[in-house]
This record gives sequence, structure tokens and C-alpha cells, in this order.
Amino acid sequence: MTAVIEQITEKYGIENWGAGYFSINRKGNLVVHASEGDTRGADLKEIVDDLRKRGINPPILLRFPQLIVSQIRRLQRAFKNSIKEYEYKGKHVCVYPMKVNQNRAVVEEYLKEGSKYDFGLEAGSKAELYAALAMEQSEDSLLVVNGFKDEEFIQLAFTGARIGKRVFIVIEKLSELDITLKLANEIKRKYPHASLPMLGIRVKLYSKGSGKWEKSGGEAAKFGLTTTEILEVIRRLEKAGQSNLLRLLHFHIGSQLTDIKRIKSAMREAARVYAKIRQIGLPIEYLDVGGGMAVDYDGSKTSFESSANYNAQEFANDVIYSIKNICDDENVPHPNIIQESGRYMAAYHAMLIVNVQDEIETVVEDFAEPIVVTEDDPQVVKELYDLREHINAKNYQEYYHDALENREELFTMFNLGLISLEDRGKGEVLFWDICEKADYFAQKKKYVSEEFDELRRLLCAKYLTNFSVFRSVPDNWALEQLFPIVPIHKLNKKPTEYATLCDITCDSDGIIEKFVDLHDVKRVLELHELEKGEPYYLAILLIGAYQEVMGNNHNLFGFPHEAHIHIDEDGYIIKKVLHGSTLADMLTQARYDIAHLQENFRRYVEKKVKEEELSKKEANELIELYEKKANSYTYLLPNYQK
Ligand SMILES: *Cc1c(COP(=O)(O)O)cnc(C)c1O
Repeated sequence: MTAVIEQITEKYGIENWGAGYFSINRKGNLVVHASEGDTRGADLKEIVDDLRKRGINPPILLRFPQLIVSQIRRLQRAFKNSIKEYEYKGKHVCVYPMKVNQNRAVVEEYLKEGSKYDFGLEAGSKAELYAALAMEQSEDSLLVVNGFKDEEFIQLAFTGARIGKRVFIVIEKLSELDITLKLANEIKRKYPHASLPMLGIRVKLYSKGSGKWEKSGGEAAKFGLTTTEILEVIRRLEKAGQSNLLRLLHFHIGSQLTDIKRIKSAMREAARVYAKIRQIGLPIEYLDVGGGMAVDYDGSKTSFESSANYNAQEFANDVIYSIKNICDDENVPHPNIIQESGRYMAAYHAMLIVNVQDEIETVVEDFAEPIVVTEDDPQVVKELYDLREHINAKNYQEYYHDALENREELFTMFNLGLISLEDRGKGEVLFWDICEKADYFAQKKKYVSEEFDELRRLLCAKYLTNFSVFRSVPDNWALEQLFPIVPIHKLNKKPTEYATLCDITCDSDGIIEKFVDLHDVKRVLELHELEKGEPYYLAILLIGAYQEVMGNNHNLFGFPHEAHIHIDEDGYIIKKVLHGSTLADMLTQARYDIAHLQENFRRYVEKKVKEEELSKKEANELIELYEKKANSYTYLLPNYQK
């Protein structure tokens, strides 16, 4: 690595949050690796150039299925190690919680690799279960059904058991148990040999997680049965003679669990509950510890919301050790552990490539000749001019404060009609010149005061970026969740600009102004200067979990184009290209009928032809244009190729 590339790698924190999947190559391009330490890599800039030749323009969602495989292996290996180290007698398997990303390519890839370790699926709704029932799983893998259920949902779960899947219905409410027992009875009466699903119960733990999803755990949680409800389930099962169906205990204390201490105490509590139920004589053999393994989005390795103060091995050690300890203490067998981690598996594999379309001017630019101030100018303008001429490293703070006052006065005088529009313009240009100089001096100091931090934010560039925050990174908008953002090229040159990113929606919330940082949250991102006619691409990374499925249609921006990339010896292979939503797709979703819109449009044109305001030729052209545009991409055409 050259010194510059090393510095830039550090600036963006690539080695902190990248989990070994990302690096910068000699050309200064961002590269993706299939696993940690793998020297083979795919050059993102080359991929984008390739796709553009096929007419696929940004924004483009790139999927690297191999990164799902690597994450599966990482977690599987970690648990294998812990099980060996602590002489744990149970097994460890995973089920993929489909809600994290139901995309077919993601689920198929998960199952393809996961089958080697009997990893299965977790469905939380009828639609997810419907897909899961027909997905190819390994024979011994599990299908765990969570979520609130009605009879139809439970019926579907029963069909799974009858076609040979190892289905667990996790009881979240007592009423679900009654429906399940009723259905079991009906089926057994008709088909005595039918296999039935096994049952689990979701336990409400006293322990809570930490971070944004803390509410998922604790006494007031939305999910789970209380102790008295659990005892009632056991009673009803015994009464129905079906106690042997109860095989699993489940809990999930939230997503993105940032603090390992909380995880440990939840494990201990759950293990106690398991042990006590086991001691009553119920044949529970699985302890489903839910999901929640956090992704270290900012790379700080702390219990900060967008981070995690543990890695996979520590997580596995703590889970295995805590459960073993309590089971040994209570003299019950070690349960098989089911883990439902989704975020950890899926986050790394997807990224959105966007192009910066333009810069939005916020501060007043000096378009005309340099400012000349004469005796006739108003006093306030003359003072601003003086400040600008004499501001320096020693007085910048005081001069900046004076300039703020002068600007107030400038506006007051303008509003009172005392100065002209030109005077106001002159004053504004001078004011921003002073700000830029003050910023320059302030940033040279070791300690930058809050006031000048604020000024930097005010002065920073706003890069208009071709995507929708609401579609592609909704958690940044809704939860202030951070995602790493890095240019995919020019990384052998130092970025010289400070910028925030504005998306192309008509919403002032459609903006990214918080960025990952090792020690804090960065309010501006270091980026390169835009060059006319040249593309500038950024990657918004680690968006494979939740973002795609939570993204919405704000402003009718649709799914971006998508490409599936395989990394190999020669770099990469583009395996699949899927076109993003068109205007017609999005309008259809909003319940418009495209044919109807086009018919109405034609009627407008025909009226104008009748009134002889449009020629036949013009009319045909207009109609053709309108009809053809129904198939365009919802995002902007990159400005470097109009
Ligand atoms: C959401 C959810 C998960 C997945 O959580 P992650 O944080 O993505 O690992 C697992 N289990 C249940 C019951 C869930 O609701």
C-alpha cells in the first residue's frame, strides 16, 4: 500500500468496519473480497463501467452472494470452536430470519451454503412461510415459524410438517396454542399417520437488550409469554395429551444488540427457564436464542448504537459458556442451540452504487467581478469589507463574531428599505468570504470549538446524489443508523472537500449528514472535488440487512437496477442483471392504469390538433414520447451522459 492509500483507508475507516471484505487497489479503486484475507478481489469501478456499457446506470444495487457465505462460515466456525472448547454437548444450528431480506437470491444463497451445516429458515408471516415451504432445505434443517398467527397461518405450518419439513410453531399467544391443538386433532382424526409440527414457546425475559431495539426485550415487550402463561401452556398440553410436542423454547431480545453483557444475562435467564421446564419433565431439546448479533457499522467496537463491543467468537463463547454453566448447575442436558441471526448474515453482501449528480450551492458564490467597495457604500458593507481584508489567525474568532453582527444589520437595513438589493448582495458575498477564512484558521487549531464545527457544516458542500434515502437506506432516515460511505474510485488522491449528501427526493429529510467515525459521528464526509463531465461514484455499504425490504416508494422512486457479482481469479463475473423499476411499474403500484393514462394524454393531444394548435407530426411525436417514457428508470440520467 502506498502512503496515500494507507491514509485514505484509515480516513474512511475501511479496516475498522469492513470485516476484511473491502480494500483499495493500486488504481485507487475500492475492491470487494469474498472472504477475509482472500487476495482475489472485484474492482467496483470496473464493474460499474462494465454495467454502464450494458446501459445499466447508477443507482445500482450490487449483490455479492459470496459475502453471505463468508458470514455463515464465520459464525458456524465460531460456534464450532466454542462447543469444542467448553465441551458443550448440544448442537448449534441457524435459521435465517426471512424478514431481514426476503429477496430470493439472498435466501437461496443462504440455504445453499447453510445446508452444509443444516441451517434452515425462520418465517414470521404467512407470505414468508409460503415461500419457505417450497424452498430447498437440507433434510435435518429446521423451519421455525414465529410471529402472530391465525388459523390460516398455522394451517400452512402444518402442511410443512406433512411434506417432511422439521417445522416448529412458536406459540406467541395462548390462542395460537388452542388453534394448533384443534388442527392437530382434526388432522390426526383424518390421517392418523400424518406428522405434526413441533411446538415452541416464546418466553418473555426480564433481561433486555441494548441499543435501538431495547424494547424488544423486558417485561413490557410486545412478544412472549409470561411465566403464568407458560405454565398454562404446559397445563393445556398435558390435558390434550400432547406434551411431547413441546420441544423448543424461544426468545429474542432485539436486533443490533450492542452490548455483550446484556446478551450474557439474557442467556443465563433463558437457560434457567429451560432448566426449570425440563425439570418438570417436558422434552424440550432446543433453545432458540433469537437473532440480534450486531454489525459493527462504524467500526468502533463499542456499545454505540451502530457498533458492537464483541465479535463472533466472543458472542459464541458467551452463549455456549452461559448456557452450559447453568445447565450443569441445574443438572439438565445441554440443549441444541438455534440461532436466528439475520443482520449479521446479510448486511455485508449488498451495497448501493450512486453517482453524485451535482453540487447544490448553498452559500452565495461570487459570480461577478471582485467586490469593490467605495466611499458611497453603506457603512455595514464597508465594515464587512474591512473584516474580510484583515482577518487572520489571531483575530479570526472576534472578526467572525463581528461579521455575524454585521450580517444581522445588513438584513435589518434591507428590510427597512435602507439599502439596495446590490448592497445586500455585496454584503452577503463578503460575509461568506469571511466565514471561509475563519473556517480556514479555525480548522488549523488543535481544538476546534463547537461554533466553528457548526460553521464547517454550514460551509460544507452539498452533493446531490442520485438515489432515495427512503428507498435504499431507510434506517438512516428513521433511526439515524449509520452506514459506511466511500468513493469507489480516486482513492489514490486525497479528498479535499467536506460534504453532506442530498438525495433526489423532494423531501428535506432525504439527506445523509451523519457518517461513520471511529470516535464520534462525523457530520461531514471527506470527498473529492467534482470534475465537470466526469462521473463521481460512491458506494453506500453494508445495506444487505433490512434496508431493501424496509425501503419505500417516496416520490415513486423504485427499485434500483441490480447486479449479482461473483468474485473469482480474474476479478469478477457479472452473473445476473435485473432492471430496476420503471415509471410504469411505480405508477401501477399506486393503482394507476398506464393504458388509461396514455389514453387520456392522447385525448389532450387530439384536442389540440382539432383546435389546430398542434400539427399531426407534433401530435405523433408527443404521443410517442409519452408512451415511451413509461419504461424509463425512475432515477436521474447521470449528468455525464445526457
Ligand atoms: C427480527 C428477528 C430476528 C433477526 O434479528 P437480527 O437482528 O437481524 O439478527 C430473529 N428472530 C426474530 C424472532 C426476529 O423477530
